[in-house]
Amino acid sequence: MDPAVKSPVDGVASARGTLIEAYDGVVCDLDGVVYRGHQVVPHAVESLLSALSADVLVVYATNNASRTPAEVSDRLTELGLPGSGARIVTSAQAAARLVAQRCPAGSTVLAVGGPGVALALEEAGLLAVSPQQMRSDKPVVAAVQGYGANVGWADLAEVAYAVQAGALWVATNIDSTLPTDRGLAPGNGSLVAAVRTAVSVDPVNVGKPNVPLYELSAAVLGTDVGRTLAIGDRLDTDIAGAVALGMDSLFVLGGVHGWTDVAQAEPPARPRYMATDLRSLSSVYVEAVQDAEDSSRWICGEASARVSRAGELVMAQGGSVNERLRAAVRAVWDARDRGSVTFDALAGDGAVLSRELDLAVGLER
Ligand SMILES: [Mg+2]
Repeated sequence: MDPAVKSPVDGVASARGTLIEAYDGVVCDLDGVVYRGHQVVPHAVESLLSALSADVLVVYATNNASRTPAEVSDRLTELGLPGSGARIVTSAQAAARLVAQRCPAGSTVLAVGGPGVALALEEAGLLAVSPQQMRSDKPVVAAVQGYGANVGWADLAEVAYAVQAGALWVATNIDSTLPTDRGLAPGNGSLVAAVRTAVSVDPVNVGKPNVPLYELSAAVLGTDVGRTLAIGDRLDTDIAGAVALGMDSLFVLGGVHGWTDVAQAEPPARPRYMATDLRSLSSVYVEAVQDAEDSSRWICGEASARVSRAGELVMAQGGSVNERLRAAVRAVWDARDRGSVTFDALAGDGAVLSRELDLAVGLER
């Protein structure tokens, strides 16, 4: 076998037993992983409780800066997860930490967004002022811009004035969209883009995929990055941020991205692990390995997959849904990396796998 190909026992998790046993801490995304809008994600709560009972430390890290950690904590408590403000890390806190590192204590900072933004700044020893409190004779050293449902033109104008006056501009995240019950709404990134169009300056973005939010999470956990697992449903933020920091990541289905997205991800956004849901934390992680005799074929447990010359996914019968997912994704990654085929996710067995996975995560598309 090619020495570059991992055998099943090489994986850090499979060598130690269950996936979670290989880690001391978990940085868990919320939207799309623990809840979807007003609904709890199936198996999320009991899986996280099981991790906590195995003495794994968990922090919840969210790019959403509008809610305070206490509000998020209350929500988790309602879902049956033990809530404590200290275990929730928001991108507003990462933004405040960055401003506190670069500006003197007590500095005046413009806070735009939900109440979570001003609270994080105050907790970091800074003086938060609202857009309504801004005065042209009292410049701010920094402006922190996060999502808030009530952010309007006057708020964006104050950010633009502050940036033009030389203030450090920090965005809590630049997610262009915000998933809501009625569809996709403009996210913080869309509002940041409006200001950027006006001022021709780029903000510092602390949210995922940039590393400050994950660095703060690891600091709160007190765990080594190499013994910390990031969990998320978005490849371009959750997974790319973990890859950038050298943190292992688990991608779960049922949120923003589906199996075809992960199959077509470039290496900087590819997760170390993938699963339909968080029950995989407490299972032995079966990795996909390349077939020693047919290098286009990837085997995961009882499942196997390859990509045909025509770019169609070809899967053998058998295997659990997670084994089929992992075999399929590895086969597509390999085919893409060789540049040999143009993959069509919905051709061949791809459409069958899509339906199977939708069923497994309880999604109707
Ligand atoms: Mg998410």
